[in-house]
Amino acid sequence: LFELTIHDPLTHAYNRRYLNAHLRSELAFAARQGQSIGLLLVDIDHFKRVNDSYGHRMGDVVLQLVAATIQRTLRPYDALCRYGGEEFVVVARHSSLRNAQILAERIRNNIENIRFDGPGTPASVTVSVGVTAVRPDGDPIEAEALLQTIDEALYAAKNAGRNRVHIGQPKTHPQTQRTQPPHTIPPIP
Ligand code: GH3
Ligand code: MG
Ligand code: MG
Repeated sequence: LFELTIHDPLTHAYNRRYLNAHLRSELAFAARQGQSIGLLLVDIDHFKRVNDSYGHRMGDVVLQLVAATIQRTLRPYDALCRYGGEEFVVVARHSSLRNAQILAERIRNNIENIRFDGPGTPASVTVSVGVTAVRPDGDPIEAEALLQTIDEALYAAKNAGRNRVHIGQPKTHPQTQRTQPPHTIPPIP
């Protein structure tokens, strides 16, 4: 029953409710460890056309193929969440901006190479990806700011022509080294 409440039944990715809890937990853990965390927003390009051209059932199959392709590109401790209809968020643990960008490019490339049965000829889809990474400081409002950052980066990727990865710099916490240590251990009396 618990599994049913946290997964999307179509793609088996985590659902949005789970993402909200998971992202906050991962940010808190990364803040404690002084680690960076990567975040990706993957959106299928012109997905409406897939439904219009091949039918809603094939659209569902394509969503499953895309989710499975992203999943096999991830590490076991990264999380894939279905964020909206044809949008997925990836939370990548211990990931610098460079690593998150490499991961996004790998996902983009793997999806471009999927083939599904079109009428007559095999068909394919592409994705656009918004990416960011942050070294969190434990501020609870950070999750919202990060989701907004990848949403804006995705929007830029779409405007630039789709089938590409764009980077967004988080406004609240730029990629700078903190001046304070992540936590101070009180001296043992
Ligand atoms: P863009 O490149 O700008 O992202 O264009 P798009 O067509 O992908 O985006 P748009 O938001 O216009 O359309 C998304 C479509 O996704 C519309 C909706 O019917 C479809 N969709 C959402 N959820 C599902 C689903 O569970 N199954 C199927 N088959 N289609 C879905
Ligand atoms: Mg889309
Ligand atoms: Mg969309």
